Amino acid sequence: MATASKKAKVVKTAPDPYQPNPWYAVRNSKVHGKGCFARQFIPKGTRISEYVGDRVTWAEADARYEGYDVNDNHTFLFIVDRKTVIDGGVGGNEARFINHSCDENCESTVEKSRVYIDAIKDIQKGEELGYDYQIGRDKNDPPNVDEIYACRCGSPKCRGTMLFPAKRPKPKKKKRAAGKTAAAKRGKKVAKKAAKKVAKKAAKKAAGKKAAKKAAKKVAKKAAKKVAKRAKKTARR
Ligand SMILES: [Zn+2]
Repeated sequence: MATASKKAKVVKTAPDPYQPNPWYAVRNSKVHGKGCFARQFIPKGTRISEYVGDRVTWAEADARYEGYDVNDNHTFLFIVDRKTVIDGGVGGNEARFINHSCDENCESTVEKSRVYIDAIKDIQKGEELGYDYQIGRDKNDPPNVDEIYACRCGSPKCRGTMLFPAKRPKPKKKKRAAGKTAAAKRGKKVAKKAAKKVAKKAAKKAAGKKAAKKAAKKVAKKAAKKVAKRAKKTARR
């Protein structure tokens, strides 16, 4: 049975970005500041809008917002590629008001260095539009970056942050520390082996069985300590 004909027509070309958008209207949002809400039913696959604004280099964008409060996440910068950023705050359209959502009904696509917002689900009239910002983490992020980009989209799928990956990666220093531990472990193993050898020798020297055991234990302990110490030192290097 063909159901395609029953489906609403999917519009694959973006509306004129500088005219009022036929698909959504801007209103205050519970999620964050202003948001974009469907004026009408939007079929899955519809190209809702192009994200436009001043096209600048990363350096220019950085310089532009250098003096801004780092705790303000309300910038309209959209990363196009390694060279270009679109600043929706300068000469931009209303697409800049589409909020982040962890349960997105839209997605952003870059085609020939232009950015579009497409519906990836059927969107009912009145629904707020949202796409996953997936803001990349950067080594220059302020320590409270997770608070700045905390997500309050309210979806059951909310991962709590607009950042991606959601969890702060472990600093490299810790990784090196883990390496140390591994080396130390290896050292310990070597120490144990050496201690056993020494203990055996000591046991041979000792006359009685019991005495031998005791002596062996003592010597083994001492030897193990010594070797372990050395192993730790090597590991630290
Ligand atoms: Zn969320």
